[in-house]
Amino acid sequence: MPLDKTLLEILACPDDHGDIKYTKKGKKESLKCVKCKRVFEVKDGIPIMLPKDFKEE
Ligand SMILES: [Zn+2]
Repeated sequence: MPLDKTLLEILACPDDHGDIKYTKKGKKESLKCVKCKRVFEVKDGIPIMLPKDFKEE
């Protein structure tokens, strides 16, 4: 399922609130912050966007 464009417009980098650019390579989708160049994974159409200092406990 392709990522919703409206969703993409409201998304921002969790670290610096920079704009997000959508990229697709083959079947792998990812989002990239144009400011800090951080790449976010997209799993099943859902972007995984967590702040840099986020720790899963
Ligand atoms: Zn960023």
